[in-house]
Amino acid sequence: MKIPFLDVGATYLELKQEIDDAVSRVLNSGCYILGPEVEAFENDWAKYCGANYSVGLASGLDSISLALRALNIGNNDEVIVPSHTYIATWIAITSVGAIPIPVEPDPKTYNIDPKKVEDVISPKTKVILPVHLYGQPADIGQILEIAKKYNINVVEDAAQSHGACYKGKRIGAHGDIVCWSFYPGKSLGAFGDAGAITTNNPDLAKKIITLRNYGSQKKYINELEGVNSRLDPIQAAILRVKLKYLDSWNERRKIIASIYTKELNNSSLILPHVPEWADPVWHLYVIRSNNRDLLKTRLNEAGVETILHYPIPPHLQDAFQNLKITEKSYPIARQIAGEVLSLPIGPHLEPQHSEKIVSILKSSLKKK
Ligand SMILES: *Cc1c(COP(=O)(O)O)cnc(C)c1O
Repeated sequence: MKIPFLDVGATYLELKQEIDDAVSRVLNSGCYILGPEVEAFENDWAKYCGANYSVGLASGLDSISLALRALNIGNNDEVIVPSHTYIATWIAITSVGAIPIPVEPDPKTYNIDPKKVEDVISPKTKVILPVHLYGQPADIGQILEIAKKYNINVVEDAAQSHGACYKGKRIGAHGDIVCWSFYPGKSLGAFGDAGAITTNNPDLAKKIITLRNYGSQKKYINELEGVNSRLDPIQAAILRVKLKYLDSWNERRKIIASIYTKELNNSSLILPHVPEWADPVWHLYVIRSNNRDLLKTRLNEAGVETILHYPIPPHLQDAFQNLKITEKSYPIARQIAGEVLSLPIGPHLEPQHSEKIVSILKSSLKKK
């Protein structure tokens, strides 16, 4: 028996007729760039997130870099970012010419530690960029307080947290701009690349609408040096269908997560920690062990696919050697990278499969 980490095709099979109808509606419409499908998804997504505006974009990476550009972040501005995140968060910052200033995660939640943010604020700091990693909301309340005190902006990377709540309120408009990816493997995924921002600020929404379309609001009148980062209407139509099922899919993820937590509670593994103010969406179920590589091998031998999120922190990637961050910096990020293991989770994983994964893990822990 093979258990994939995530069966991305299963969402299509579940909703085949509805998705086929949506795609053929777009193909028959004759409108293939922006237009009513994109607007309809933007409205649905803003409403779901509790935000006033949403702007559909071509990817999650673009959503972060355009959010920074909308806030006029550029050369030599400093952006505070977690030391433990997917590299896209950092690339978005350097792509606008700004400097990522890393802050270590809270070792329990893996999200940026708000207690360490003030230490790195300088006159050049323009933005704090927390990531709601693994489906767990970061401590956005604390971060907003610090940002207010120093009069700096907050851009949230919510690429892994569709539907997560902080103190009962959905992620989507706590900070100035919230950035989303609909990469196929995300909890709300398109069948190709797609992204969006949400915000309550009409001026920022308008600026991103302009930036995504060559800096133009009126054809051939270009007010900004923009980019081409338009959400594809076919993907928008697919996302509209899938959004209706997001909450029920998140519920199914929650059941899998609760099986893992219940069954592995008394083991030597470090399990996800959920603060009392957090309502996570279990985009990933990440365990930690100093025998991570052995556990991954054992699971793999039994046909269970696991993934490491992430094996190398951004500051140790060749891509960022130009930042001249010393090797020994950010020990918490380095330790987490060496110990994390993401177990299969998704709306189409059978609960009995998670039981099987648990029993393989338990016997591997006993044997070693
Ligand atoms: C997926 C992801 C991104 C990038 O999204 P793309 O759509 O692949 O560009 C950014 N940040 C985080 C945390 C992600 O998980």
